[in-house]
Amino acid sequence: MAMAATVAIIGGGIGGLTLALGLRRRGLDAVVYERAAELHEVGAAVALSANGTRVLHDLGLSGELVERSAVPTELIYRHWGGGRRIAAYEVGQGYSARFGAPYYGVHRADLQQILASACGSERLLLGKQLVDVSPSARGHRLRFADGTDAHADVVVGADGVHSTVRRWISDVDPAVYSGTSGFRGLIAVDAMPSLPDPGAIQFWMGPGAHVLHYPIGDGSVVNFLAVVHEPSEWAAQHWVREVSPEALEAPFRAWHPGVREMVGATTVHRRWALFGQAPLNRWHRDGIVLLGDAAHAMLPHHGQGANQTIEDAATLAECLHRDSRDDALARYERLRKPRTRAVQRSSWVASDLLHVPDGPAANERDQALANIPATLRWIHGHDAEATARASGRY
Ligand SMILES: Cc1cc2nc3c(=O)[nH]c(=O)nc-3n(C[C@H](O)[C@H](O)[C@H](O)COP(=O)(O)OP(=O)(O)OC[C@H]3O[C@@H](n4cnc5c(N)ncnc54)[C@H](O)[C@@H]3O)c2cc1C
Repeated sequence: MAMAATVAIIGGGIGGLTLALGLRRRGLDAVVYERAAELHEVGAAVALSANGTRVLHDLGLSGELVERSAVPTELIYRHWGGGRRIAAYEVGQGYSARFGAPYYGVHRADLQQILASACGSERLLLGKQLVDVSPSARGHRLRFADGTDAHADVVVGADGVHSTVRRWISDVDPAVYSGTSGFRGLIAVDAMPSLPDPGAIQFWMGPGAHVLHYPIGDGSVVNFLAVVHEPSEWAAQHWVREVSPEALEAPFRAWHPGVREMVGATTVHRRWALFGQAPLNRWHRDGIVLLGDAAHAMLPHHGQGANQTIEDAATLAECLHRDSRDDALARYERLRKPRTRAVQRSSWVASDLLHVPDGPAANERDQALANIPATLRWIHGHDAEATARASGRY
C-alpha cells in the first residue's frame, strides 16, 4: 500500500509531533510515522524552559500545558551534604515576564498525549518502523518493517539518538558515552519530609554525583534524575540496565536526608547510560534531514534536549514554509548547528562541574554560579521562530 505525503516525519517523539503541528499551522501537509504500536513515554518527566514553551504556546497548546504542568518556584543549587543554598534564581512569574513564556515541569506521558491529540490519528501512523529510504520519481520511497511503503518530497529523521535516518546523511555513529549514568524516578512529596523546597528545580552537587529534581503536574510529585560516574565499558552493551536498590542508594549514603529519602523511595531500579554526540558535519542530504536527538543528542544537565528539539521543529517548519526545499534545509542547518553545538558543549562542561569534590574547585564553581542569569538568557531567552523569520529576506 502506498501513502502520499509531502513531508514524512520519522518518529513521533516530542520533535516529530511538534514539527507536524508547526507545518500544519503553516498549511503544509505532513505525516508522522512512529515505530511504536502505541505512544509511550521514554523516561518520567521533562522540564520545559521558555525557549520551548514559547513554541508550544504559539501552537495553541497553552491551555492543556497549564492544566497538566507545575511551574517551579526557583532554580536552586545546593551543597550535597548540609543542603546549603549556594545560589538561587526565581523561575516563577518574574521568569515568565522576563522571557515571555513560563517554565514547566510536565510528565512525559502528558506532553506526548497533548501533542499527539493535537496532531490527530490521521496524521500520526503508529506501528510504522522505517527500514529503508530510496530515491523515487516522486521524491523518496520509504519502506516500513510491516511491508508497507510511502512517498515524500522531504524526509525528516526525528527518530532519536539511535536514529535510523541518520545513516542516509552520515556514515559516522556519533554516540559518545559520557562516563556517567543516571537513575530516574517519580516520588510523592509526602514521602520526602526532609526535602527543602520541593516546589523548586534543585541541583544537589557533590563528589562524583549530582541530583536534579523538579515538581510536575499538580506539584504533589517530584521527578528526579540522580547522576553518578560509571566510567566502565558497560554502557556500550547495556544502554539501560536493571540494578539493585542498594546500587542506587550507595553513592548517596552520606548525602542530605532529603536526597536519601528521594532515591530510597523510588521503585524504578534502572540505570541509564548518558550519551552525548560528536557533532555531525551535515544535517541534510538530498531532501533528507535530521532533527532533535538524531542531529544533536546532548547530556541532560541543562535540561535542554527536548527544548532544543522543539526549537529545531519551529525553525524547520518556518524554513520549509518560506523557502524551496533545498534552500529551506540549508537555512535550517545554518541556523541550528551553531546554537545546538554551543548548548551541547555547555552541557558537557556542566557534567564535570556538578561533580567536583569539596575544595578550591568547588568554591570556584560556586562563585561562577553567579553567572547563571546570563546562561539562562542565552539559552532560555531564544526565540527560534523569530530568528528563522529574521534570517531570511522575507
Ligand atoms: C535522563 C534524561 C533526562 C532528560 N531530561 C530532559 C529535560 O528535563 N528537559 C529537556 O529538554 N530534555 C531532557 N532530556 C532530553 C530529551 O528527552 C530528548 O532530547 C528529547 O526527547 C528528544 O526528542 P526527539 O523527538 O528528538 O527524540 P525521541 O523523543 O527519542 O523520539 C524519537 C521517536 O522516534 C521513534 N523511532 C525511532 N526509530 C524509528 C524508526 N526507524 N521508524 C519510526 N519511528 C522511529 C521512537 O520510537 C521515538 O518515539 C532528557 C534526557 C535524558 C536521557
